[in-house]
Amino acid sequence: MTLEPAEGDVPYHPLYINGEWCDAQEERRFLVTEPATGEPLARVAQASHADVDRAVAAARHAFDKGPWPHTPHYERAHIIHQLAQLVQERSSELAELESRDGGVPIRKTTFNDIPLGLHMIHVFGELARRSPYEPLPWNDFPTVSWNFVWRDPFGVCAQIIPWNYAFCMAVWKIFPALATGNTVVFKPSSLAPLSAIELVRIIDESGLLPRGTVNLITGPGGDVGEYLVGHPKIDKVAFTGSTEVGRKIMGIAAPHIKKVTLELGGKSPSIILPDADLDKAIDGVLFGMFYHAGQLCEAGTRCFVPNSMYDEVIERLVHRTRQLRVGDPLDLATDIGPLISFKQRDTVERYIALGREEGANVVIGGGRPIGEEYERGPFVEPTIFANVKNRSRLAQEEIFGPVFAIIRYDEIGDAIEMANDSIYGLAASVWSEDIQQAIEVAKRLRTGTVGINEHHVLNPYAPFGGHKESGIGREMGVAGMLEYTEPKHIHVDFQRHRSGKIWWDALLPPLDEEA
Ligand code: NAP
Ligand code: MG
Repeated sequence: MTLEPAEGDVPYHPLYINGEWCDAQEERRFLVTEPATGEPLARVAQASHADVDRAVAAARHAFDKGPWPHTPHYERAHIIHQLAQLVQERSSELAELESRDGGVPIRKTTFNDIPLGLHMIHVFGELARRSPYEPLPWNDFPTVSWNFVWRDPFGVCAQIIPWNYAFCMAVWKIFPALATGNTVVFKPSSLAPLSAIELVRIIDESGLLPRGTVNLITGPGGDVGEYLVGHPKIDKVAFTGSTEVGRKIMGIAAPHIKKVTLELGGKSPSIILPDADLDKAIDGVLFGMFYHAGQLCEAGTRCFVPNSMYDEVIERLVHRTRQLRVGDPLDLATDIGPLISFKQRDTVERYIALGREEGANVVIGGGRPIGEEYERGPFVEPTIFANVKNRSRLAQEEIFGPVFAIIRYDEIGDAIEMANDSIYGLAASVWSEDIQQAIEVAKRLRTGTVGINEHHVLNPYAPFGGHKESGIGREMGVAGMLEYTEPKHIHVDFQRHRSGKIWWDALLPPLDEEA
């Protein structure tokens, strides 16, 4: 790692403002630890409101006076692809850092998170070439003119991400904003900020962006995050995190009528249809549920199973779950790492107790794994509840941990109704060999993404986001890029003489051009 300057035996990461690494006011810092062991990993600067002011001023200046918003699209695209190349050279180091910092199994970070993040950067580079010009249909009322839409960058964007999927999150915030000519003040989560900080370091070392285009602020969300969101000089807020904080952010952004996009929580359903191939569907819904210990916003945490197959499905889910290895995220053999924090484990354990009180039964897990290797981190067993009622709190509230609720249904229509009976609407999966039927079910689900015979479908060409309280707006794909632009209608009038502007006569008497 090229993390410096070191402080004690862990690296120290300052703030990054206007192209310079700098201490926070009064040199305040906080400690970042490995969830699996509690070992210190790094110290990170804790920004004050004055530091946020400086970062916003730098981004404002870079937007209002700097070259980035006016840099040609092909050039922005070229720079983004060059940055991707630099990220690629650091892939294995980034994977290890992400595993340590977030407790993410190394198989996942090595084969999914970092390569996916890299693919995303290239796709945003490709989308950066998209023309800001959109022709409009011919309009000859009141007479002929040439009309088009020009896409302006939005301005200064405040971007806040959570601790899960941190590297990909950082990528899908920063790069669409850059691709469309915006400038950025970016804040990662205090719980796992390191891969995002490393990404900013790569951007800095490249020297490819004008100063102030990307700025990094670190510190507690309730303080610096909230202050950043409410800053009057911010034009757009892009937030990924909990629905609870998202609600607050919308309120804080309201007085200045800021543009807000929110990617929030979920309680996504996976629906097994009666004709599903269970060899595939059992592993598929478990992948949907227990990937990263269920700490993914679009995790398929409610599974709807036909009554006729219920006992077989439970038995097979239990059998496969028993084979999952909980352990050290840096061990290639580990399937499930620790949770992000002890606080998060308290929450998960409260929900396990609640599920039992609500009358559902634990068919596997429900406790902490036993052994010395589990003593220093917030580990919890993958847990499956059978006979869950969709209206119970276990099936309605986002737990953000490895707790799977299995719900029975009689008719497919009932499964669809229950799947939609949620305040959330982020993602879903449908498991069936009859693709036509699966598409019909997919169309009736009120969610932003549906996987047919697949669950975690993050495709940078596709819009990602939620219905209902899972969010507002979209990220990724063309739809996500457009969220970083303001459409501007430009009208070019073709009348060469005043006499052609007959509609002005409704106010002003016609000119006598002969006189
Ligand atoms: P969180 O508590 O809402 O925090 C998310 C981010 O917001 C962190 O950077 C946090 O900073 C900051 N923050 C906290 N309070 C804030 C406030 N009052 N004003 C401004 N910023 C504030 O969420 P989390 O626990 O980190 O992440 C898990 C949640 O994210 C889950 O609900 C999950 O579903 C959701 N999520 C959604 C998506 C999606 O795309 N829809 C993707 C991933 C995760 P600090 O951590 O430094 O305090
Ligand atoms: Mg949090």
